[in-house]
Amino acid sequence: MRILIVGGVAAGASAAAKARRVNEEAEIIVFEKGGYVSFANCGLPYYVGGDVEKLDDLLLVTPELFRERFNIDVRTGHEVVGIDADKKCVTVRHEGRETTESYDRLILAAGAEPVRPGIPGIELEGVHTVACIEDVEGISAALDAGVEHAAVVGGGFIGLEIAEALLKRGVKTTLIEQLPRLLANFDPELSKPLERHLKRLGLKLMLKKGVSEILGDGRVSSLRLSDGSELPAQMVIMAAGMRPRLELARRAGMELGSFGGVVVDEEMRTSVPDIYAAGDMAQSVNFVTGKAGRSPLAGPANRQGRTAGANAAGGSLRCRGAQGTAIVRVGELTAARTGLGEAEAEAAGLDFFVSYAPVRNHAAFYRGAQYIILKLIVENDSGRLLGAQAVGREGTDKRIDVLATAIYAGLTVFDLESLDLAYAPPFSSARDPVIMAGMIAANAVKGEIRLVTAGQLRELAKGGKCTVVDVRREDEFICDSVGGAVNIPLDRLRRRYEELDRGRRIILLCAEGYRAYVASRFLSQKGFDTAILSGGYRVYTMDV
Ligand code: FAD
Repeated sequence: MRILIVGGVAAGASAAAKARRVNEEAEIIVFEKGGYVSFANCGLPYYVGGDVEKLDDLLLVTPELFRERFNIDVRTGHEVVGIDADKKCVTVRHEGRETTESYDRLILAAGAEPVRPGIPGIELEGVHTVACIEDVEGISAALDAGVEHAAVVGGGFIGLEIAEALLKRGVKTTLIEQLPRLLANFDPELSKPLERHLKRLGLKLMLKKGVSEILGDGRVSSLRLSDGSELPAQMVIMAAGMRPRLELARRAGMELGSFGGVVVDEEMRTSVPDIYAAGDMAQSVNFVTGKAGRSPLAGPANRQGRTAGANAAGGSLRCRGAQGTAIVRVGELTAARTGLGEAEAEAAGLDFFVSYAPVRNHAAFYRGAQYIILKLIVENDSGRLLGAQAVGREGTDKRIDVLATAIYAGLTVFDLESLDLAYAPPFSSARDPVIMAGMIAANAVKGEIRLVTAGQLRELAKGGKCTVVDVRREDEFICDSVGGAVNIPLDRLRRRYEELDRGRRIILLCAEGYRAYVASRFLSQKGFDTAILSGGYRVYTMDV
């Protein structure tokens, strides 16, 4: 049995090690066109920022260790340039020479490459990407030589992480993003707190702007933006997305899917016999919708690689798919997501509602408590949890992981209400944020309350179809209020509710939702048609 693997990082390295554990007799060869295998791409920005001190710390397994421990032949500097699926062989290029290698099983784990848009000046010295060890060696060397201004193009998670790293290195940094917000794979409102926080860290943020030209004489010296303005920059980091490497698969006639990856089954088999694909270049099943998707992240790449390795070596493993669980930290703030976002739930044709819970990460009386905003996307009627997003500081990660597990298990918001989670004041509250979020959403499914989002509130208010009643204290209302709202503090509502027009829907709001909930229960039992601004003023302003 001869197993060849193309690509030696997350999916390829996992595939190789698993194949060996399944089959001691197989000959296993990994071809990696770069100079390193099994390195932590996810750690690259942190090396630039200094949180990872030595590049060696990012090298998880070396070719020597692969040979000694696993008897796996790892060949760096070897690029696979062609596949002949009929003859079951690949063409490999090394130092300008091409050779042919036959296989019984072939695993493609070629990953994705950074998008380098075809703008004038892209080839200038000083324009970098962040995708491999060599990239960050180049960036670090340039920073050591002195860079005053840098521009990061792209506001996805790699763009944010590298921008923060540059700020930490004392470089005046501008981030340019053509969308009106950061993190396109998160729901839009999560961008606001990150934007505010990044500005506080000293980042110059330019949204709704593109780069039309990179200027310089051999070396980059400035950028011309889509609005005609010019920006000084001795370093430009292109973080404008990653594109799966599909050329080999395309030429070998493999079926490609509408999500821009190789179509694979649960065993990671492609449409071509004896060829498997895994990682960023492969599609996967989104196990919330059960439909095709692509989740180009390290966790899915490792799972898919492991599955491909086991099956190619004669074992039997299945990969259930992925649910898009992702997390990013910017300064002190963390944004995380799992399952479906609103747009994805809509595209999947699901009947759902959105519920927010702004909750402190641990007991309010214990020092340092801070807000996390949790957003749940919940199927109407059944209460099944479809997705969750969160923004906050400490403890945001564990909440999204609990919610990811809940989604994986197909739990409903009623299950969230009953979770038995660990509590002591430094860690949580007797009602953990996840449980609170579950209770709020469960009340909505049961029809005890009706929730509206800030967007829905604006639409309703614009149509003149509702009265917005702010039930906070007068002093809170005067400080910051939502346009058009009238103020009836909760504790005066029993005396004043007859002032309200029974013919109109009453939308109640308060600081975080609790007082509006109490008011809604009271008014609805008095015959009013009520709804609550979910998460209150804190979510309206996304204040964490
Ligand atoms: P890769 O890791 O890209 O490996 C593919 C390898 O194949 C490459 O080394 C390439 O040189 C090699 N190759 C390609 N073509 C050939 C060929 N023809 N012949 C030989 N070799 C070839 N994900 C997270 O979940 N969390 C994070 O925090 C996170 N941070 C990231 C930060 C950065 C800067 C980057 C770039 C990615 C990050 N990711 C993160 C994404 C994650 O790293 C990828 O999803 C994962 O590495 C994909 O694994 P892969 O094996 O499919 O591809």
